[in-house]
Amino acid sequence: MPAEGYLGSGESSMDELESPEKVGVLHIHSTYSSDGTLSLAECQQVFRNRGYDFMAVTEHGQDFDAEKMKRFVEDCLSLSNQAFCVVPGLELEFYRDTKKTHILAIGITDFVADASPEGALDRVHDQGGVAILAHPRIDLHQEILQRLADRLDGIEVWNTKYNGHFAIPHNNLTLLAHLREAHPQLQGFAGIDFHWQSQYKDLYVALRAAGFHQQAIVSALRSGDFRIRKKQAVIDPGGQVLSMPTAADRLLGALQSPLRRSFQRARGISKWLGLPVPTALKRGVRRIIF
Ligand SMILES: [Zn+2]
Ligand SMILES: [Zn+2]
Repeated sequence: MPAEGYLGSGESSMDELESPEKVGVLHIHSTYSSDGTLSLAECQQVFRNRGYDFMAVTEHGQDFDAEKMKRFVEDCLSLSNQAFCVVPGLELEFYRDTKKTHILAIGITDFVADASPEGALDRVHDQGGVAILAHPRIDLHQEILQRLADRLDGIEVWNTKYNGHFAIPHNNLTLLAHLREAHPQLQGFAGIDFHWQSQYKDLYVALRAAGFHQQAIVSALRSGDFRIRKKQAVIDPGGQVLSMPTAADRLLGALQSPLRRSFQRARGISKWLGLPVPTALKRGVRRIIF
């Protein structure tokens, strides 16, 4: 359950707005994605029970076609009510050589089938959606960021599956600051990349929207009327850290980074050798160090 006073101290200009703040999680996968484990209705229940007002679902685009998209969007709408809003979206996948790029398209209702990321981003914006480079890595995404920076709405500066959940990923904030010099429209977003229960982390966004429905939430995300929050930590969409994590979380984050790197290296070696790591072992390790 998110803490009280989501938006933090009175320094926020959003406090002047009268609409009540809403809290929600971004980057959710249900069983509409091939690797999701909870149905959309179960996801809705999980996050509603945890005290959230909305979730932005971003299913894997490669698992979709136009017909499935239609069913998914209808499902999102039917699971939305006065207490909870389900925002539909996709996580679009692009390859160049062996480099994989994932783009979150939040708030879209039509399937996006474009083979090029440029075309796909235009389709996302045609529909009023928000386009975010998911889990960026400077070593992998430098070239694609140069190509797409003027079309993107932002980058996922904090993804708990990729960056851990204790410490703020400062390297991503540095990347955002650098990108914003030439592309000031880019904003930082945060997602939990949720596929199963133990991937739940209390990283969320708090926003003020002009109403409580899908379009109002999407438009608040697009215009940057939100804060990223994780317990005591608060980050604004421009990448400024307004409040630091607790000392205990900062310490755990510092311990977590080397463990995470070793795990990723071991996984890389086993992949290279063609030895699959048993899923149960992978999940067990993830539970401890991620
Ligand atoms: Zn992804
Ligand atoms: Zn994902």
